[in-house]
Amino acid sequence: MQILDGQAASQAIKESLKIQVAQLVAEGRKVPHLAAVLVGNNGASETYVGAKVKACAEIGFKSSLVRLDEGISENKLLGIIDELNNNMDVDGILVQLPLPKHISDEKVINAIDIAKDVDGFHPVSIGRMVQGQPSFVPATPHGIMLLLQHYKIDTKGMHAVVVGRSNIVGRPISILLSSNASPGNCTVTICHSHTKNLNEMCLQGDIIVAALGKPGFVTANMVKEGAIIIDVGITRVPDASKKSGYVIKGDVKFDEVAPKCSYITPVPKGVGPMTIAALMKNTFKACAENN
Ligand code: NDP
Repeated sequence: MQILDGQAASQAIKESLKIQVAQLVAEGRKVPHLAAVLVGNNGASETYVGAKVKACAEIGFKSSLVRLDEGISENKLLGIIDELNNNMDVDGILVQLPLPKHISDEKVINAIDIAKDVDGFHPVSIGRMVQGQPSFVPATPHGIMLLLQHYKIDTKGMHAVVVGRSNIVGRPISILLSSNASPGNCTVTICHSHTKNLNEMCLQGDIIVAALGKPGFVTANMVKEGAIIIDVGITRVPDASKKSGYVIKGDVKFDEVAPKCSYITPVPKGVGPMTIAALMKNTFKACAENN
């Protein structure tokens, strides 16, 4: 069994971007600029946005954190997106989800300029990705593909079972794994909360992508010998013994599943850092294409 070390793979991607940014600086050219919009004070969202801003600083990107009050109106937020769209210095815009209930995620995502859609959530970006056209690929699925690439895992012909069908993880990773590309060329089964015989489905997977947000959901009896396990889940589980008051848990019972696998991502330090690396790559691409 080999651990797919997302921390190390993400560091390698960031180092490579850092060199490319230094080159831009040496040539007197514009460095990539990511604008992150954070509405309200959700603790997890704060952590994710903080990590993205920190990664920008590490690489040499410019970043702006637009902090907005929980009570901001949808129209006001759309106005701010419009300003960022028109700001020639900003290359990439990300709006940290989830947004407060009174704001439509869909309206806000649809308002982002496609050329700056570094999270890849805009329907046009998704449509292009589905058709195999150049596009921004959503950061988490993109990060998973980069991780498979980093470890030179040839997925051709494998049966991938994806548990979860969200627009940001499950559905796009199922598209990417089934694409005629490398990594890719898998036969994909996508499962959700109405799937019958989920255990048997998972047992057929040469690859299992667990993206449902249920800590420890995938157990050893659901996994065949030699499977590749990608654990996307991140859930804060209360733990009074920790200073923070919680521990981060993935969707896979790591201790019992790991001995059966060929490869497995840990949580933390698996898919999480790869999401950030993919976002950084998307931001670099946006800057290169827009300037
Ligand atoms: P969503 O809640 O949007 O989607 C969860 C999906 O899982 C749904 O499709 C749901 O089915 C399915 N599901 C829920 N329960 C079951 C079940 N018992 N059996 C089968 N399927 C089930 O979650 P996200 O996709 O946004 O996120 C999933 C997890 O990944 C979360 O823990 C999240 O924190 C984490 N995450 C991690 C990231 C990273 O960088 N590592 C980035 C993004 C998310 P249905 O559609 O029928 O409701």
